[in-house]
Amino acid sequence: MDFKILEEVKKKAIEEHIPIIMDDTLNVIKEYLENMKPEKILEIGTAVGYSASQLVKLSGEQVKIDTIELDEDRAKLAIENIKKIGLEDNINVIVGNAVEILPELKGPYDVIFIDANKGKYPFFLQEALRMSKKGTIIFADNVLYKGYVLGDYNKHKQRTAVRHLREYLAEIISNEKLDTQVSTVGDGLAISIVKS
Ligand code: SAH
Ligand code: MG
Repeated sequence: MDFKILEEVKKKAIEEHIPIIMDDTLNVIKEYLENMKPEKILEIGTAVGYSASQLVKLSGEQVKIDTIELDEDRAKLAIENIKKIGLEDNINVIVGNAVEILPELKGPYDVIFIDANKGKYPFFLQEALRMSKKGTIIFADNVLYKGYVLGDYNKHKQRTAVRHLREYLAEIISNEKLDTQVSTVGDGLAISIVKS
């Protein structure tokens, strides 16, 4: 495993405006994963494999990650990057729409990282809960969406995404099976621990 390549992957992604996970967000996730030694992780939204590779780095080499990416070119790049780093035994890239793929997966997963189209977060949560067990941590990135979610912003072309993100937050906060915190780090990170 050569994690030094991650710096190149990160640089290239930023140059190409691919919205990879921010350093601060990764640091918050790190605190949760540090003593956990997860064996199975599900990621929704691979992009070029940056966060998936970082998740292996934080979890240890026992981990197996299933990660879903809709865009074929990005998925191809992700598979290339993962090979270069030497993580092909740890990361399984599934090419396709998570809306169709998720119902085919079984779980349970120890960690689930939601980082794809915001309009589908409520559905992703439903599937994440189905594939969780006691102690599973469900992270969702970009839940505050540049502040739109907390403001009274609703006359924007992104209003559908905002509505679904609010729905996501309302559900994780009110669901009695979840212990939830929402961090303002990066673009907003929701952290929900499954209690039972
Ligand atoms: N997790 C990555 C960044 C993901 S960016 C990282 O931090 O490195 C969000 C990705 O989700 C994009 O590449 C986009 O193509 C993908 N995506 C959007 N909708 C999707 C869907 N319905 N199913 C699977 N992937 C999707
Ligand atoms: Mg993100």
